[in-house]
Amino acid sequence: MEKVELLAPSGDLARLKIAVMYGANAVYIGGKKFSLRARASNFEISDIKEGVEFAKQYNAKVMVTVNMVPHEEDLEGLEEYLIQLDEIGVFAVICASFTIAKTALKVRKNMEVHLSTQNSSTNSSVVKFWKNIGVDRVVLGRELTIEETEETMKNVDLPIEVFIHGGMCSAYSGRCTLSNSMTARDANRGGCAQSCRWKYKLYENDIVISDIEDPFSMSSKDLMTLDYIPRLLDAKVASLKIEGRMKSMYYIAVVVKAYRILIDEYYEKGFVSPETLEYCKKEIARAESRLTSSGFYGGIPTAYGHLYGINGAGVIQDYVAHVMEDSENGITKIQVKNNFTIDDTLELFSHCKANQKMDTIQLWNEENEQVEVANRPMQILYLKSNIKMHKDDLIRKYELQIRENVY
Ligand code: SF4
Repeated sequence: MEKVELLAPSGDLARLKIAVMYGANAVYIGGKKFSLRARASNFEISDIKEGVEFAKQYNAKVMVTVNMVPHEEDLEGLEEYLIQLDEIGVFAVICASFTIAKTALKVRKNMEVHLSTQNSSTNSSVVKFWKNIGVDRVVLGRELTIEETEETMKNVDLPIEVFIHGGMCSAYSGRCTLSNSMTARDANRGGCAQSCRWKYKLYENDIVISDIEDPFSMSSKDLMTLDYIPRLLDAKVASLKIEGRMKSMYYIAVVVKAYRILIDEYYEKGFVSPETLEYCKKEIARAESRLTSSGFYGGIPTAYGHLYGINGAGVIQDYVAHVMEDSENGITKIQVKNNFTIDDTLELFSHCKANQKMDTIQLWNEENEQVEVANRPMQILYLKSNIKMHKDDLIRKYELQIRENVY
């Protein structure tokens, strides 16, 4: 049976590598040109090439979003850019604009051309239209219920990709002008200022009906679909996509690994055990900075799908250190990410083995002085523990800090 692709986001080369190592079959990134996250992108062509070569070692693919809605002035250099991406081995470009998709189809030799969710493809008829144009894959709009997704899948013979996790726009398929109106930053040309997630005062006529103690926001909860993965696999979608090119390395590692575990169990056993489902939900809750909901999969979102009173985003401080090199003689070189002390109970979160609780630890700084507290982010320390670690493993606090959540 052909396995579904787990497709993860990456905002830079380091996160690309983490996504692949923790179980993604493919990664999508935005280049510095023609992408909706162009402002935040760290990917020069040379970085994309390095990412493609790294991913190949894991039999994984790299896709590049070329998903802005271009105005006349934005088109200069488009053909050359697409040709470069094809030549360096990018698997696919993800396009939202007909102009960019048509240009990519004209110049590509090996590269696939995928149609972005921003086209709001919500039925089989529109998928057939894009197939006739020559597009290789369509990403469905995020506004479909699970039943509508299943029905669409029965009537198409083109690979289909669906979103399974991450931030949602409160606007339809990201077609939003809030950011344009409020900040003159065009959300459809890479400049979204996340205006929907700001805190507002809410007026009815001239009367403020919310104040700063009770701010109003238009932010959607993040999408979380662990419960729906078996049905999406049965429906034979080709790719399951996680949103979040701006998200942290820890978030990507945790979310990718949780979906990887669940998907693999379903292929292996034909079902997902309640224990695995619960475990994966708890894992994801440790990395999420916003509350989650099932988006449109369970039907039109109700008030529970939104964060009206709060924007819900908070910094998760579970993740305390990154492993820089494989352990040698029980000593591991780490980089500090969040505060911890030698009295904290820590846990290894690994890309190549099961999580492991650490017994007592000892720490030394680069001057070979023993320290008890790690409180300088990016500081290099040496950690002694009972566990062998590998480069790019992550270290986090052991205690579960599960927050209330609505699924
Ligand atoms: S402002 Fe909010 S709704 Fe608009 S594009 Fe940005 S994230 Fe989406």
